[in-house]
Amino acid sequence: MQTKEIKAFGTQAANKQLERLTINRRTVTPHDVEIEILYCGICHSDLHSVRNEWGNTAYPVIPGHEIVGKITRVGGLVTKFNIGDLAAVGCIADSCHCCDACREGEEQLCENGWTCVTNSLDKILGGITYGGFSENIVVDENYVLHVPEKLDLASVAPILCAGITVYSPLKRWNAANKRVGIIGIGGLGHMAIKIAKAMGATVAVFSTSAKKAEDAKRLGADEFILSGNVAQMSSTPKLDMILDTVSGNHNVNPYLHLLKINGLLVIVGLPVDPLAVDSSSLVNGRKSFSGSIIGGIRETQEVLDFCAEHNITPDIELINVADINIAFDRLQKGDVKYRFVVDMKSLRGYQN
Ligand code: NAP
Ligand code: ZN
Repeated sequence: MQTKEIKAFGTQAANKQLERLTINRRTVTPHDVEIEILYCGICHSDLHSVRNEWGNTAYPVIPGHEIVGKITRVGGLVTKFNIGDLAAVGCIADSCHCCDACREGEEQLCENGWTCVTNSLDKILGGITYGGFSENIVVDENYVLHVPEKLDLASVAPILCAGITVYSPLKRWNAANKRVGIIGIGGLGHMAIKIAKAMGATVAVFSTSAKKAEDAKRLGADEFILSGNVAQMSSTPKLDMILDTVSGNHNVNPYLHLLKINGLLVIVGLPVDPLAVDSSSLVNGRKSFSGSIIGGIRETQEVLDFCAEHNITPDIELINVADINIAFDRLQKGDVKYRFVVDMKSLRGYQN
């Protein structure tokens, strides 16, 4: 298979800074498109991954799975995109195409293992997949999204992971007209507030950071609860559903107590340590404890269109590649409002 060398930004080891690297991309095959990457978001999963917090990182790792750009080449059998179109890629770069989940458009549940755009086995080229901190990416058109023209292009990027990851469970469990709790105001959490409100939910937000109270209201939350404040926690009216977007180790049991009968706690955050669930809080009140992972390609297009229809864009801090290491350190400290997006055009002139 033909490849070409391109510039990328990634790291060689868990304890090393991200730096300018050179990687190989395959050239387009008949169903592929090549996308010049214009913007790429930084998700907390990128941080878990570059620092090998989940213990599954293959180095060098090129992170980035919230990718927005422009089509620069199309394979001979491509039908959905033309050169010059805006296009986006999220977490899913490939899947088996033939299991029940893939046929139903739920590629994130592929029974034979989907290919993540970064740090996955690359079944086409061999080796490991390299993500969006790079000049361009080559993906089968069936895993590429159309970008609604009316949205600000840099702000579209976080919808590709943060947006779909919260949209999918809020839709699946019918957030509309329910009392919904969101734990954590970060990349996922702030999008969850906006999307749940647009769906018609009443939204209560739980945060460890008192200084985010004003932002929570500005983002649309109806209630702000400081999770460390026992009085505020115990006086919170019961909720139908709670979405846990927390990236760090924490105790979920106080939230199970806040659910109504038949209430549901959905985990989307991926802290390193296993969560310990107090079975009596789950059993009493017949509550459910569940999880959710991103969303399929069809649903990812749906959330992009939903955001365009409801004028929802993430709150972003736009940075250049030269500031990526600072951004990762700030993300670790919860110091971002509320998603870093890298202007990937800055990689082209980057020296070092
Ligand atoms: P983020 O921007 O860093 O936000 C996480 C928020 O969690 C923080 O802002 C903070 O909010 C809260 N938090 C962090 N550590 C905490 C702790 N020890 N105890 C209590 N609260 C804490 O991260 P993100 O990009 O939104 O990602 C969140 C998590 O979702 C990550 O683990 C990521 O890997 C995972 N994720 C999962 C999927 C999926 O498909 N399921 C997709 C994408 C990401 P407050 O300051 O408001 O407390
Ligand atoms: Zn992500």
